Amino acid sequence: MTDFSGKFGLVVGVANKRSLSWAIAQATANRGARLALTYQGRFEEHVNELSQGLAQPPLVLPCDVGSDDDIASVFARVEQEFGALDFVVHGAAFARREELSSPFSHTTREGFRIALDVSAYSLIALARSAAPLMEKRGGGSVLTLTYLGSTWVFPNYNVMGVAKAALEATVRYLAADLGPRNIRVNAISAGPVKTLAAAGISGFSSMLNIYRDRAPLRRNIETGEVGEAAAFLLSEAARGITGEVLMVDSGFHITGM
Ligand code: NAP
Repeated sequence: MTDFSGKFGLVVGVANKRSLSWAIAQATANRGARLALTYQGRFEEHVNELSQGLAQPPLVLPCDVGSDDDIASVFARVEQEFGALDFVVHGAAFARREELSSPFSHTTREGFRIALDVSAYSLIALARSAAPLMEKRGGGSVLTLTYLGSTWVFPNYNVMGVAKAALEATVRYLAADLGPRNIRVNAISAGPVKTLAAAGISGFSSMLNIYRDRAPLRRNIETGEVGEAAAFLLSEAARGITGEVLMVDSGFHITGM
C-alpha cells in the first residue's frame, strides 16, 4: 500500500542525518520515490553526501524558504526534471536563538516575523507552487512537521509554539482550499528528537527525560518512526485523510500528569 514507485517528491529541510526530513526522504526513497532535496546554503556538502545513500540519485537544490525567488527556482527545476510532483515534505523551521531563551513577553516584532514567515507561511508558498504540478498527477499530498508546543506551553519553546499553532491552522485552511483539487495537506506532530533545530531550545535534554518518564510507551521516538508515519500519510493508503495532525510522540499528548 505504501509503494512509491514512479512517484516524485520534494523534501525541504534536510540539514544532516538526524533531520526528520531525512528520515522521511529515506522512507519514501526506499519505497521507490524519486526525490528532490533542498538545503540551506551551508548544508550542500552534507546533503550531497547523504544523497549518495539513496537508491535513486536525488536532485539536490538550494532553497531558503523565506525567499520567493528560491522557491520559484526550485519548482522550475523540479518541473524541468520531473514534469510533475506527487508529494511535498515541509521540514523547515526557524526562530532566532534569543527568542528561544528570553522570557516570551520579550519576543521582538522582527523575531516573531521571521519565525512565522520561515516556519508557517512557507508552507503556503510551497503548497501553492506544488499544486499545478500535482494536478498533472490527478492530485498529491503535502506534509509538514509540527510540535505539541502549538497547543501546550513548553519552557523556552516560546515563539516557535506560536509559529506551530499558525502552521497547524495553515494545514487546515490549505486542506480545505486544495481538497477539491485532490491535494491532501497533513502534519505529523513529533515527540522531541535531538536534531540541530532542537539543539537551539534551552533545556531540551530535560524534555527528552520527561517524555521517557511519562509517555505511555516509556521511551522517546526515533526519527525512523516519523519516516514510516510520513510514508503512510504521503501514500495512497491515506487517500481519505486531510487536514489532520497525526501525533507520533509515544503517546505523550494523552497524559495529564
Ligand atoms: P533540523 O534537522 O535542524 O531541520 C530543520 C531544517 O530547517 C534545517 O535544515 C534548517 O536549516 C531548515 N531551515 C531553517 N530555516 C530555513 C529557511 N529559511 N529555508 C530553508 N530551510 C530552513 O531539525 P528537525 O528537528 O529535523 O526539524 C524539522 C521539522 O521538524 C521542524 O519543523 C521542527 O520544528 C519539526 N519538529 C522537530 C522536533 C524535534 O524534536 N526535533 C519535534 C517536532 C517537530 P538551518 O539549520 O540552516 O537553519
